Amino acid sequence: MNRDTVSPAVRYRIVPARPEAHVYEVTCTVEHPDPQGQRVALPAWIPGSYMIREFARHVLSISARSAGKSVPVSKVDKHTWRAAPADGAITLCYEIYAWDLSVRGAHLDRTHGFFNGACVFLRVLGSERSECELEIARPRGTRYRGWRLATAMRQQRADTQGFGIYEAADYEELIDHPVEMGTFDFARFTACGVPHEIAITGRHRADLPRLARDLKRVCEQHIRLFGEPAPMERYLFLVTAVGEGYGGLEHRASTALLCSRDDLPQPGTRKVTDRYRTFLGLCSHEYFHAWNVKRIKPAAFSPYDLDRENYTRLLWAFEGITSYYDDLALVRSGVITREQYLELLGRSITSLLRAPGRRRQTLVDSSFDAWIKYYRQDENSPNAIVSYYGKGSLVALCLDLFIRQRTSARKSLDDVMRALWRQHGLTGEGVDEEELELVAEEVTGLALKRQFDAWLRSTAELPLAKLLAAHGVRMATRPAESAADKGGKPAGPDADPARPGFGVRSRPEGKDALLTHVLDQSPAQQAGLSAGDVIVAVDGLRLRDGALDAALAARRAGERVRIHAFRRDELHEFEAVLGRAGQDTCFVEAAPGASRLREKWLGARR
Ligand code: ZN
Repeated sequence: MNRDTVSPAVRYRIVPARPEAHVYEVTCTVEHPDPQGQRVALPAWIPGSYMIREFARHVLSISARSAGKSVPVSKVDKHTWRAAPADGAITLCYEIYAWDLSVRGAHLDRTHGFFNGACVFLRVLGSERSECELEIARPRGTRYRGWRLATAMRQQRADTQGFGIYEAADYEELIDHPVEMGTFDFARFTACGVPHEIAITGRHRADLPRLARDLKRVCEQHIRLFGEPAPMERYLFLVTAVGEGYGGLEHRASTALLCSRDDLPQPGTRKVTDRYRTFLGLCSHEYFHAWNVKRIKPAAFSPYDLDRENYTRLLWAFEGITSYYDDLALVRSGVITREQYLELLGRSITSLLRAPGRRRQTLVDSSFDAWIKYYRQDENSPNAIVSYYGKGSLVALCLDLFIRQRTSARKSLDDVMRALWRQHGLTGEGVDEEELELVAEEVTGLALKRQFDAWLRSTAELPLAKLLAAHGVRMATRPAESAADKGGKPAGPDADPARPGFGVRSRPEGKDALLTHVLDQSPAQQAGLSAGDVIVAVDGLRLRDGALDAALAARRAGERVRIHAFRRDELHEFEAVLGRAGQDTCFVEAAPGASRLREKWLGARR
């Protein structure tokens, strides 16, 4: 088709019309509307974030016109509208309220605009496969003169700052390219010949050249794992730096990230801080998704049904395997040290050990119920669910180590991922629920059913210690040293091995401690305490700074303590018998001596 003479059948125009009111104005023109009356809808959810969000909530007004005349629009259900039949092209005009500063939403104020297409672009029912054109306009007024625009969407014609006409092959692509506009900073690098950009919005003083250097190594590691050429022509990291925040959402040629400005590398230091390591892990995670979930997709997402939940038991693979490779790529590319990687691994195992829900929910059930459980966590979640990210990444580790051990490192999970890429990523054919297990068996020549049954479909503990030991890595557990102890390191010199266990998570609320979670079968639960209770005193003494941990630290297992706490506005007294702190804190370290399998696993550069 000659794009100069034939307009796409569906055209959009978005204007950041009233930044001070957080309102975008959008028009959607349908060249050949349904003669029965054109129906349009906003998605109920955004791919990558498995929760019903009902973006239609943010539509403030909607109207339609055809040939200069107004066309009646009526609502059909919570996210669908129908315009009355019209003879020619029809244009829907609507306003969207945008005040959600998350990677899943749309946001607009006088400092910047950000949107995901799923929040702002109506889906023209029956024309989802049609090519789309999008015009993105600059806000009116002199204060916005310096704004520019960043998106990975294909540009048709735009001004030097990026405002203008973009195009997408279909609706699914249109909503897979988030857009940022404002006065952000840019950094650029090339990875395996592919241009990459980082756009950072928000106040920050990041060392951009260093970030570009580190990300280049990570991206090249991922590209080489799957094999060149990379599946995208260019790639964009859209970063929003705030005071406190964390999140990422994957797209086919970009990712939207939210981080704390302290997570970014600071000038004048070469150190990889804990926070920077976490940020690099987040970038690595979303980048790996460009293969694993954006192109190698569950059959349940091929195509996405944007009206309702899309159920799959495979999120453990799409999120868990991605979570395994995100940190692994950091050590394999040399951005972090082996010790730093093993510390992260120890922390992941610690998180799993601290969730009693791992004995209740299997990984496949966690995937299936993501919509109502993982994404809608409450005070009982640690007791009720297991994370398909956390446990999923450890199952990926077990699978990788098991394959390496049984094949003397001739095969690994890398080979399984490459086979999935060839068979599903390059072909676009969705992955059926059992397919991944069959591919793993075929590629490795191993019978893996027993392992998959135990690791995915039962709540049995994973054989982590054994598999790590076979790879020259020692795993040990110990009690937590304090509430802030995330694991990953051996006990410090001042650790108290007889520290008592109480079984709660809390946060300070003034002088008091608010219980956020009470773990199943714990001394606190047996004493009758509940999440939401506010502890004010232990043994008749007022807490200091909400530090429940400190108030109990000097006690011993078996001791009785009297707790005063408010439940709503009623004061209650509880008597608890302290237990032993559980062996729920893990650290892993390289065992002395050389290990061929360990070198192959952690140093496997290709
Ligand atoms: Zn993910």
